[in-house]
Amino acid sequence: MNLQEQPAGVYRIQSLGQDVTAAFSSRLYDNSKRHEFLAALSLRPENLVMVKQVHGDTVLVADKPDPVFFDTPADGLITKTPRLILGIRTADCVPVFFWDAAGKVAGIAHAGWKGVKAGILDQMLKVFKTRFGSPTANMQVALGPSIRKCCYEVGNEFLGYFPGFYFGKNASHGYLDLAGSIKSRLLKKGIASSQIQDSGLCTVCENKKFFSYRVEHQTRERMLNVICISPEH
Ligand SMILES: [Zn+2]
Repeated sequence: MNLQEQPAGVYRIQSLGQDVTAAFSSRLYDNSKRHEFLAALSLRPENLVMVKQVHGDTVLVADKPDPVFFDTPADGLITKTPRLILGIRTADCVPVFFWDAAGKVAGIAHAGWKGVKAGILDQMLKVFKTRFGSPTANMQVALGPSIRKCCYEVGNEFLGYFPGFYFGKNASHGYLDLAGSIKSRLLKKGIASSQIQDSGLCTVCENKKFFSYRVEHQTRERMLNVICISPEH
């Protein structure tokens, strides 16, 4: 992944594709500074669409910044509308960016363990295909900062939820590789590993830069992850 921090606290995923802005904030931009973050990306805050994130598998298609989205339960957003900004807030869960470069369709998902288990990734690819005809062969996918297997301690019930991605520490606890599970699910849907980019960033290991719900005692602060199709020149 070609990731550039410019200016400080604004991480741009340069390698997702041309004609698209994909970025996430660091903790320099707390919840009160979302407009400043968007301005630093030369994006207009009034074009931002977010949803009421509920760890489910609902994906919505947006074509305008309708305020009703903000109260609608969902964990994925897709658009073909240039300038519309799709936003997902995270602090440990995985922000997953999607870009169909040929069809010029963008999407973003909030992928925590519950949403991944519920099928949010399958649902994203399904809506891309049914609504916009985006084949998986066109899709570029990127994973932003999240809690990683180095730090994501969970109970042993996760062995059944995520077989192959739970690593036992003792009889009752182990570590979950949620990003690994996401990549595996994408591969099974026909997305090649060369189409998947991972920031590799851990919100706990890099807690000086990113918010972590776990480490910071269920903080309400979130990173803002956005994707926005550039207007035609
Ligand atoms: Zn870590």
